[in-house]
Amino acid sequence: MITKKILYWYDNNKRSLPWRNKCSLKRKEYFTLVSEFMLQQTQVKTVIPYFNNFFKNIPNLNALARVGEAKLIKQWQGLGYYSRAKNLKKSAKMIIDSYSGRLPDNFEELKKLPGVGDYTASAILAIVFNQKIIPLDGNIERVLKRILNLKTEEEVKKENLHKQKKIFGKTSRSGDYAQALMEIGALLCKPKNPYCDKCPITKNCLSFKRKDFEIKKKDKKIIDKFYLATLYRNDDQLLLIKNDKFKFLKNLLIFPMTEISQADSLLKSRNKLNLKMSNMNMNISVDFSNIKNKPKNGLWIKKTKLENFTIPTFTKKIFASVKHNL
Ligand code: SF4
Repeated sequence: MITKKILYWYDNNKRSLPWRNKCSLKRKEYFTLVSEFMLQQTQVKTVIPYFNNFFKNIPNLNALARVGEAKLIKQWQGLGYYSRAKNLKKSAKMIIDSYSGRLPDNFEELKKLPGVGDYTASAILAIVFNQKIIPLDGNIERVLKRILNLKTEEEVKKENLHKQKKIFGKTSRSGDYAQALMEIGALLCKPKNPYCDKCPITKNCLSFKRKDFEIKKKDKKIIDKFYLATLYRNDDQLLLIKNDKFKFLKNLLIFPMTEISQADSLLKSRNKLNLKMSNMNMNISVDFSNIKNKPKNGLWIKKTKLENFTIPTFTKKIFASVKHNL
């Protein structure tokens, strides 16, 4: 019964999302691959314009496998976590070279694609191939925890959640069903103040019965980091380098940076900014210097062109914080 109620609600309430448009299986494979990569760390409403733009500029798997790095990064600029874009392109190449241009329809082969983990593989199997799988994303996890009012450390462990998801039952519309559960999590079963009055499964929901909607969250350990970024000037140009030093923004253009101690950061320049990235709280001091010679991995770029240049938002934010001093 729960299956029917959820699908009925979905048919009448689902959002119109560009990757859900009716299309051939081949296009659906491409839509799902791109959207699932984009959605890995980013919310649906942020992803929509990026997805539309990406599809306009890189319309299919062949184009993705061939796209130049600058164009690829430009499509991703602002979405962050650029390794996703690079893995997406690598996956496209592998699908063309090893799977005749079509997504494999089994878990083991999908997991061989760069950037495809358990969740993305499960989502692809359900959405593209209609396999009877419930992928456990953050939204579905929350719905499951609420329905069963799971609270303790043991109850909310991933292995247990995978066991408990059998309560969702099975249907021949597996792809729609996975998306319906995600949609209930995203639109109704919100982390705070869920809209139970609109929910089709209140009768099945223990949290609703107990009026206890608190969700136990895993603590995300945030690490404080300290950096010194130096803006090297040469007349009206600034130096950018290809980052081969830090794990974040790998191979992308940044200002030359070094990691420093907290004590050093107190002594360094008065230009400071704070940026969050993944689990890092980055405290960045910014200094200026003049040089003429460009290092091997460097690039001079005119200050006036920097804001419209294809560089990570991270680099743009550092520039924006000090441009009045340049
Ligand atoms: S009844 Fe409320 S708490 Fe339960 S699944 Fe629906 S929205 Fe979530």
